[in-house]
Amino acid sequence: MVEKNSGKVGPIILLGPPGAGKGTQAKRIAEHYGIPQVSTGDLLRENIARGTALGRQAKEVMDRGELVSDDVVNEMVRERLGEEDCRRGFILDGYPRTPVQAGWLDGFLESKRAKGRAQCGPLIVIEMDVDYNNLIERLTGRLYCAHCGRIYNVITQPPRVDQLCDFDGTPLVARSDDRREVIAERLKAYEQQTRPLADYYAKQGQLVHVNADLDVDAVTSQVLRVIERSRGADMKSPSWSA
Ligand code: AMP
Repeated sequence: MVEKNSGKVGPIILLGPPGAGKGTQAKRIAEHYGIPQVSTGDLLRENIARGTALGRQAKEVMDRGELVSDDVVNEMVRERLGEEDCRRGFILDGYPRTPVQAGWLDGFLESKRAKGRAQCGPLIVIEMDVDYNNLIERLTGRLYCAHCGRIYNVITQPPRVDQLCDFDGTPLVARSDDRREVIAERLKAYEQQTRPLADYYAKQGQLVHVNADLDVDAVTSQVLRVIERSRGADMKSPSWSA
């Protein structure tokens, strides 16, 4: 059994449409293994909140539900993955999202390995399959805590106290791109630009599917099983019961 808080983990990629639950699962996996969640959406929103030039540029694109340019996102990822906390591994949430980004990531990881600085084990790509109607319900009911980033849903994952984060009591907010017209654009961008990545990773024998229609704990159980299997260990005592 590989200890959950030591040794290398991943890198792990969570693939799936907006609303599949990538952010929720990435946070749980990150906490479980003590590795960082690297969410390009969160990094972009941080830039917007700080009012950086990158943030100002990205906001317009994000508010239309389109994808930010590959160069900008790849550079942001390069910087983030170079940080100390990524040495044992990391979980990518919302990245890569285009074939160009996937190719860039392959090259980046390869160059790390070639330099003997492989920070992590084999790539694990998990595709979260979810029914279209579930996606819409999750996206239109989504609220999040701008302080700690935890994600809720008014129907399926309500906070204990109405509109307040369970962990720090911060008032919850809806994302500006969770409006119906923007959701339609984001799903279109996913179908056209991101879905082909499943084939790309399947051809390399790296893709594993999980059923993301199940409840949050059951999805976490599946994801943990996939990761443990790929780390060469049977999970004898899963933390989340299916
Ligand atoms: P997310 O939080 O992953 O749903 O991302 C929110 C928005 O940020 C997306 O709709 C895109 O506009 C932008 N974004 C996030 N990740 C990427 C990426 N890997 N490539 C391009 N745009 C991205």
